[in-house]
Amino acid sequence: STKYIATPSKTKEILKKYAFAFKKSLGQNFIIDVNILQNILKHAGVDKDSGVIEIGPGIGALTEQLAIHADKVVAFEIDQRLLPILDDTLEAYSNIEIIHQDILEADVTEVIREQFKENQPIRIVANLPYYITTPILLKLLHDRLPVESITVMIQKEVAERMAAEPNSKSYGSLTIAIQYYTDAEVVMNVPKTVFNPQPNVDSGILKLELRKEPPVYVEDEDFFFRIVKASFAQRRKTLRNNLANLFTDMNKTEIQEVMDQAGIDGGRRGESLNMEEFAQLANVFYKEIN
Ligand code: SAM
Repeated sequence: STKYIATPSKTKEILKKYAFAFKKSLGQNFIIDVNILQNILKHAGVDKDSGVIEIGPGIGALTEQLAIHADKVVAFEIDQRLLPILDDTLEAYSNIEIIHQDILEADVTEVIREQFKENQPIRIVANLPYYITTPILLKLLHDRLPVESITVMIQKEVAERMAAEPNSKSYGSLTIAIQYYTDAEVVMNVPKTVFNPQPNVDSGILKLELRKEPPVYVEDEDFFFRIVKASFAQRRKTLRNNLANLFTDMNKTEIQEVMDQAGIDGGRRGESLNMEEFAQLANVFYKEIN
């Protein structure tokens, strides 16, 4: 049959042929809707020049569409049982490389150097395993990979947190961790029905455009992220009280004096600060204690 992998009947046929049993622990929810995949590709900006990195090809539903539209696809898959299946389902495509490795353990920078052309625009596209969405994205960003964008299907609530605006329920330290490196946008909501098996949660497509430079100047990145985390530690507490738990050898008056230098009222809540204000806050405390 010439049908795409991402159809209910073809997927069923492949699963049956290999007597494949899903591993829930690996977040295995396969896409059975070609329309959704084409939407992902469109938002990802994948074209014939693109080198694409995929995380978790499964039985190859997204990999196949990527291979059709991109120059080359390199996919990391942790589940050994899927390797012979992928050999079979993707047999018709010569521009796919499957790497049997846990993405969290992978040296992606090295793989990019080995697998793609010099100066080729590289995009990461994936339907991520939901149990480790955040660790995967933070690893990819901390590695400062030479990639243009990351477009991923993830749990809707997590996508909303990553793309949130100040003063919203979803805004938090994860928002800052992601938006320090990227311009983040939820481009589409996706119903459970496009997966086999269906996940318990709704999904969204998150697009992250990598920034060339951070949007704010910080004296020390680790320190900045510690301040951000502490500011959201107890969401209903004031900034002053949350920071008092971080700087245990300063009293609240001393803490407010440092905050005054940043022009920030200690009575505010963390969720009201934008990234620029967090940077100012971190930088005055950094200078105070160093
Ligand atoms: N791309 C396929 C699709 O859209 O139909 C499958 C997506 S499924 C949500 C997630 C895939 O990631 C599974 O194939 C799973 O085995 C794989 N996976 C889970 N943890 C992984 C890890 N740490 N590194 C690489 N792949 C992983």
